[in-house]
Amino acid sequence: MGYRTTIAGSLPKPGWLAETGKLWPQWRLDGADLAQAKRDATILAVSEQTQAGIACCSDGEAARVHFVHGFLEGLEGIDPAAKVRRGIRNDRYEADCPSIVGEIRRARPVHLDEARVARAFAPGALKFTLPGPMTIVDTLYDGYYRDRKRAAFAFADALNAEMRDLVAAGVDTIQLDEPAFNVFFDEVEAWGIDAIDRAFDGIAARKAVHVCYGYGIEANIAWKRELGDAWDQYAHIFPFLSRSSADEISIELAGSRVPPGVLARLTGKDVAVGVIDVATDAIETPEQVAATIDLAAQYVPRERIIASTNCGMAPMARDVANAKLAALVAGARRAGISPDSGGRDRA
Ligand code: ZN
Repeated sequence: MGYRTTIAGSLPKPGWLAETGKLWPQWRLDGADLAQAKRDATILAVSEQTQAGIACCSDGEAARVHFVHGFLEGLEGIDPAAKVRRGIRNDRYEADCPSIVGEIRRARPVHLDEARVARAFAPGALKFTLPGPMTIVDTLYDGYYRDRKRAAFAFADALNAEMRDLVAAGVDTIQLDEPAFNVFFDEVEAWGIDAIDRAFDGIAARKAVHVCYGYGIEANIAWKRELGDAWDQYAHIFPFLSRSSADEISIELAGSRVPPGVLARLTGKDVAVGVIDVATDAIETPEQVAATIDLAAQYVPRERIIASTNCGMAPMARDVANAKLAALVAGARRAGISPDSGGRDRA
């Protein structure tokens, strides 16, 4: 047996593609040059994961400006230029958010180009991430539906259409990123899981949901300081996620105050355990990574554990991110389990 390895989603964008160290960077190029540079950066992201020994590669998210806004740019019903500054994640921080101005429609594929490129270069399983319906709604200004649930279901249908094209292109795992789940527990129960199930309806691929405490940006670090010694967010939402159609739940554990016992509340799911902390540039040692895996294994059956990162690494320096990928794989190996068995042996 062996631990599968993957990453939560993003890697840092190369400096020739976009501004570095930013969550909402400016592109360095435009037009056809930008499109080609995005493909080249996608090849590089897959190559760096493969070189590190990551079994299930992601596309690296180099082709999208931001993990939510990249998908939105391809939809009808959104005006990306009509930015409204609003507090997101229950006013944790402010962001300039595009506006919903009409019925949401996905008239054409949004991410198919980079999915095809990633598929061509990934030797094993390929994971593709998309923003979840609740997180999309929470990262927009809604001047049309004026109802978070209705808007979320409109996005769920757009996501479903996108997923069908991605799966047809050979994507093995589709992951919905739902950091908003850790903030809006009542909405998770009332409609958040239903929206995810609607997005995944009829999708013939492995289905994952990622819920984290966010990128390692200052606003999130400050928020985490307020959450006390034992973060209880997962305890609220894991029972609901256990009833969802997802096969795999991706969570944050390394360097966090998540009480590991809460993992026992995720029943019947594979768990992509964050063993790499994205909120610090300090490189984990293989021993630390192995210890985090072993901690999770006290509450999750070993065969259900996948070693992963806590969250995306988009705002990091590339050398730091690459060193962390190497640590992830070395740690999984040190835990006594081959890190390279996960490519095609997913359940
Ligand atoms: Zn995350």
